[in-house]
Amino acid sequence: MSCKVTAVNGDLATAEGREKAIGWWRRNGFTKLWLESYRHGERVPTERLVEERDAFRAAGFEVCGMITPTMLNDPAPGAKEAQMVVCWSDPKARERMREECARAAKVFDTVILDDFLFSVCGDPFGQCARCAADKERRGIADWSEYRRALMYEVCEKDILPAAKAANGTAHFIIKYPCWYRNYAERGYDPVRQAKLFGECWVGTETRDKNPEPIQACWIMAWMDELTGGRCGGGWYDALDCTPEKFVEQAYYTILGGARESFVHCYDYLLSDNPGRTPFGEKARGPGACRAAFERASGELRRLADVVAGAERGPFSMGGNGVSTHVFFKDRKCYVARLNTKDVPVAGLPPHGFELREYRAD
Ligand SMILES: [Zn+2]
Repeated sequence: MSCKVTAVNGDLATAEGREKAIGWWRRNGFTKLWLESYRHGERVPTERLVEERDAFRAAGFEVCGMITPTMLNDPAPGAKEAQMVVCWSDPKARERMREECARAAKVFDTVILDDFLFSVCGDPFGQCARCAADKERRGIADWSEYRRALMYEVCEKDILPAAKAANGTAHFIIKYPCWYRNYAERGYDPVRQAKLFGECWVGTETRDKNPEPIQACWIMAWMDELTGGRCGGGWYDALDCTPEKFVEQAYYTILGGARESFVHCYDYLLSDNPGRTPFGEKARGPGACRAAFERASGELRRLADVVAGAERGPFSMGGNGVSTHVFFKDRKCYVARLNTKDVPVAGLPPHGFELREYRAD
């Protein structure tokens, strides 16, 4: 589970708050935490990161870092605050990014970057005189190609060298969003970037609106193949989703063969303060998502234990909204079924899940 700056500076900054969180994580099968040091212009002081890292390690958790690269430019003239999505042709933004990478790398050996490296400068998104001049200077005609070139340069020349200089064993991970159709246009290039970083993760946050919920199941295998086996796992969240959809993402992340599942985040599930969301997405009924996860956590664990080391067989989404997934392991065949509908379908209750075991022979 990740903990945003809001929680790291808030609930988790006290021993009492940490005890409460630790109890819940232990009861619900969590073993690894990602503590965020920067997001939307808000920082966690380094001493506080160290204190929480050590407290959670002492409690038996693996602890890594996280950075959300947003609001790194100066505010535009007349604006109250910096733009959420960064303009990366701005040397100041790149300098701030290097500082945050170095700071996180001094505290954590492993740091994940939330999926805000993308750019919306230039066609068809909006005008940016600075990027237009930079694009001209580089002699790149196409905006999409320019954004990919710029993001790759930020990764290669800023993020990774700053991290390595601060901590020779620093390992940074690039996380890709769920919206794969727009990667190239907004600067993402998983094939080259994952090679540069060594590891990537991918979003399985399909939420309520995605018409193709089973994307949360296939996107990791797709990303893993695309990046030569460098996809470390799937990341989902509790934004803009019903409790049932939230848990569905948890099932699909495991069914899709994630080596690790990543729940974003403490703030949306366990805190009274969800913090600010980038585009006003809602952590609707955080208590409800938590309760739904608690009810499912035993079954999710059992499924994860079956899927670990199993050979993935075929899977498909039926026209009735029930998906079927086949696994083979230890001379047994497992068939999982998940109902994505709000009504009973094919013997499964609304949003019901079942896992059956058969002898393979
Ligand atoms: Zn720009």
